[in-house]
Amino acid sequence: MAEHESLEYGKADFVLLDNVSMEEFMANLKLRFEKGRIYTYIGEVVVSVNPYRAMNVYGREVVEQYRGRELYERPPHLFAIADAAYKAMKRRNKDTCIVISGESGAGKTEASKYIMQYIAAITNPNQRAEVERVKNMLLKSNCVLEAFGNAKTNRNDNSSRFGKYMDINFDFKGDPIGGHISNYLLEKVTYRVMVPKHNNCVFLFLHQLLRGATDSLIRSLHIQKDPTAYNYIKVGGQIKVLLTVNWHTNKWGGAEKEPGKYLCRKMIQSRTQLTDVCLHGNLAFGVDGDVTLIENTKLVSVIRELLSTKEEKVEKALLYRTVSTGRDVIEKQHTAQEAGYGRDALAKAMYERLFCWIVGRINDVIEVKNYDARVHGKNTVIGVLDIYGFEIFQNNSFEQFCINYCNEKLQQLFIQLVLKQEQEEYQREGIPWKHIDYFNNQIIVDLVEQQHKGIFSVLDEACMNVGKVTDEVFLQGLNVKLAKHAHYTSRKLSPADKSLEFNRDFRIRHYAGDVMYSVVGFIDKNKDTLFQDFKRLLYNSSNPVLKGMWPEGKLSITEVTKRPLTAATLFKNSMISLVENLACKEPYYVRCIKPNDVKSPLLFEQERCRHQVEYLGLLENVRVRRAGFAYRQTYPRFLQRYKMISQFTWPNHDLPSDAEAVKKLLQGCGFDHDAAFGKTKVFIRTPRTLFSLEEQRVEM
Ligand code: ATP
Ligand code: MG
Repeated sequence: MAEHESLEYGKADFVLLDNVSMEEFMANLKLRFEKGRIYTYIGEVVVSVNPYRAMNVYGREVVEQYRGRELYERPPHLFAIADAAYKAMKRRNKDTCIVISGESGAGKTEASKYIMQYIAAITNPNQRAEVERVKNMLLKSNCVLEAFGNAKTNRNDNSSRFGKYMDINFDFKGDPIGGHISNYLLEKVTYRVMVPKHNNCVFLFLHQLLRGATDSLIRSLHIQKDPTAYNYIKVGGQIKVLLTVNWHTNKWGGAEKEPGKYLCRKMIQSRTQLTDVCLHGNLAFGVDGDVTLIENTKLVSVIRELLSTKEEKVEKALLYRTVSTGRDVIEKQHTAQEAGYGRDALAKAMYERLFCWIVGRINDVIEVKNYDARVHGKNTVIGVLDIYGFEIFQNNSFEQFCINYCNEKLQQLFIQLVLKQEQEEYQREGIPWKHIDYFNNQIIVDLVEQQHKGIFSVLDEACMNVGKVTDEVFLQGLNVKLAKHAHYTSRKLSPADKSLEFNRDFRIRHYAGDVMYSVVGFIDKNKDTLFQDFKRLLYNSSNPVLKGMWPEGKLSITEVTKRPLTAATLFKNSMISLVENLACKEPYYVRCIKPNDVKSPLLFEQERCRHQVEYLGLLENVRVRRAGFAYRQTYPRFLQRYKMISQFTWPNHDLPSDAEAVKKLLQGCGFDHDAAFGKTKVFIRTPRTLFSLEEQRVEM
């Protein structure tokens, strides 16, 4: 019996469970995890449980076992999904995408790297130098992004704090010729870039810089090597950080190839702004009478140098705000508190711009060049999406709201692509099919994003109001507009909470479960204001890179008429375009599960895992899959693969049609009861049948 059918390791596909119940699902997941089988299918979806130990299943020989094979021929593996996506792209000229989801620490980024590694391993059989160069760059770009976009959190030592979507472009031969990276919602809120309160999270590059820089570099940047000297990066205890970027040699990860050097050179140029992010946190403000002061003026001269601008300009931007009253332009002094707010906003904005700039530079290097589709044929794409899963914390704020909205969008896409299309295909093929009910979460997507009525609109409206708009006022607006919505509840509606003096929460009934959000900070985070004075300051820097990052600083105060788009609107727009991009591709899914909170390879925390299975909608996924057919193939292709197992079809058949021949073949094996015959395709209900066909084929 094939390994993937042996019961010792549980069922390799959840579709094969005797009963689709949470108990059976969990028992199978646990058994497989304990037996070191971290991957299991639901049809073509891979469910992965983070093993928290090195698995010996990603080597060259394993790659060879999966290369060009069909999904069901080998035990479940990421490589099988990667191969399926690659084959679909190559054989059928289809753009495909692999969507990897799961909570923080579940193993998404690792999975995306193994997928990339697999694709790199199976392409370019002719060792073309240009393709090797591209592959090298695509793989290396990860290190750079991780250095700048990952942070150590209490949930994951190497947590991606941004959503990442990477397109890999292939030529007609199926070899990579370039790529493009999009990043989504880099988390930069105070407690992430700046951590004095939570001792557990800091972007890795700050440490890398301080640990890796030479003494002369340290001197030229006017920084100290001691991380505890900086408010934004002060963290308790010993910090274990991988030194991905080696600032001594301007190389990283041992990459000494040209593209690496190029990128690194670019990054060296940007270092000054990085150190600035660290230094800004140390600026302290005080008051003397009615005058707001900078307490550590020495720092200002360092910042001036790093920003390539004038000292008095820095001081002014930190302490004053230029406002236009219509007729006059006046300078208004900040309070110490406002100045502190401005300082933090500046650090965050610089960090965000820098990150986007780095992504932009990587894209410059990896984008497809000199490809003429008229000569070389269509260039096709595999997209890999590594994006944060649902977040349900004790305290949920604007960030969780955005992240969970993103997951609603992806769930909607899943429904559209997998469930709806599946049902439509059966209809098209004339296969009798009982419509199965699934929860369509469009109603929740609308609740968040609908024009005028959705939560984002209400939030934006509140932010547009002049004067002091508080989070509470925003919440009242929500309560008025959405009181009757089936998926929205204000806490006020619950009699038990009457005692609360302030009502600061609202609850959304997400497809994955109920989440209570606190409105505190929504307005501020949505406005994400950076005083125009700072933009002008940076635009007027004599450092061209810095200047280039702040084009809107060109406008004088009287010319600034349009409000910048809010964080919510920007996020919504980027999600809509992400979904549009994915929707035109053939999707493959990897669902990652985190087995415990202590990074243990031995512990399978039942409750924790059950919760994830629930909110990833895996049981529903199994049900739909079982109600439908695990496998489908056009008649000619099916014959091509299996004709050798039947005397009626080998070497050729004399039946009136391929459809008849397939029917006869399956009858002969006793599998016709497990199949349905459509207009152009044969549908097979259970993977078990397919395993068996595969085995007979191998035995021939
Ligand atoms: P985040 O959302 O915080 O970015 P993530 O889902 O991307 O989390 P990863 O960074 O991929 O999580 O994984 C967290 C850690 O789990 C890794 O650093 C590694 O130690 C371990 N891990 C994940 N997948 C595997 C695997 N397949 N084999 C061995 N270890 C793994
Ligand atoms: Mg990650």
